[in-house]
Amino acid sequence: MTTKTPIDATDDDGSLAPVSRANRDAAQIVVTDWPRRDMPAFTGGAREPRYQVLVRQSVLNKIHRHGKSVEETEVCGVLVGNVHHDAAGPWLYVEQAIEGNGATERAAQVTFTAETWAHIQLVMDRDYPDRRILGWYHTHPGFGIFLSDMDVFIQDNFFGEPWQVALVYDPKAGEEGLFLWRNGRPQPDPFLVESDEPGRIDPHHHPGPRRLLRHAREHGVGRCRRPRRPPRRHRAPPAHDPDAPRAPGPLLPRLAPGRRRLPAGSAPPGTRAPAHHAPVR
Ligand SMILES: [Zn+2]
Repeated sequence: MTTKTPIDATDDDGSLAPVSRANRDAAQIVVTDWPRRDMPAFTGGAREPRYQVLVRQSVLNKIHRHGKSVEETEVCGVLVGNVHHDAAGPWLYVEQAIEGNGATERAAQVTFTAETWAHIQLVMDRDYPDRRILGWYHTHPGFGIFLSDMDVFIQDNFFGEPWQVALVYDPKAGEEGLFLWRNGRPQPDPFLVESDEPGRIDPHHHPGPRRLLRHAREHGVGRCRRPRRPPRRHRAPPAHDPDAPRAPGPLLPRLAPGRRRLPAGSAPPGTRAPAHHAPVR
C-alpha cells in the first residue's frame, strides 16, 4: 500500500495529491480551496462551525421517486453540486442528482458499471459542466440506514475525497441518512435541507446519528440485510465480470484532484472515472 502525505503533496502537474486513505476525514478539507458562498435558507438544523452538507429538497424528492419506482430493488445514482465555504467553514451544496440509469438489474445489486459511469459522465458534461460529483446515493428497501462493507468499498474507491458523501434511503421506511468521512470511515451525519420545492420533513424522515449508530449496532454494519433476497447483493461480484468493482483494488484509477480527465489508456476499455472530482482553482 502506498502512503501519501495528506494535502501538501503535489502531483507532477502541481495539483493536490489525494489525502491518505487511512485517516480520510472531512476535517482535512482546505477551506481556501473552495469559493466563498453563503448558505441559502435551510431547515433541519443549525449552521455549525464545521463541514456541513446542504441538500435541496428537490434532490431528496428525486431520490425518493427513484427509490419508490422500484421499491424491491436497490437503485443508485450520484449527487451533484459544489463545495463552498462561508464564515463557519466548508459546506457541501447538493443541488442535483443523476440516476444511475445504466446500472444492471442483475441480482438487484447496487454497482457502478462502466455503462453507469458513461451515462453519468454524459449528463455531467451536458447539463452540469460547472458542477462536480459530490458522492452517491442508493436505496435499502426495507433494511434500514447504514453502509455495508460493499457500500464502504464503493465509497472508498469512487468517492474518496474528504468532502465526498454517501446518502442512503429506505423507500419502505421513508428514512434516509447521510454519511461523511470521519477518521477514515464514512460516518452518519445530519444534513440540512433547502426547501426549494415542497417535501415532507418530519423527525422520522432523518434518523439522527444516534439512531443510525444504534441501528448499526443492532443489525451490524458488515452487510446489508436483504429480506427475501439471495445473499448476493452488496457482495463484490465475481472477478470475471469486467464491469464490476473487484476487491481489493479500485475498478477505476483514482483521479488526482485538479485532473479532469484520465490520461489516455489509463482506464479499462469503455470505462471512465468521474471527471468532476476536482477543486476549481
Ligand atoms: Zn447499501
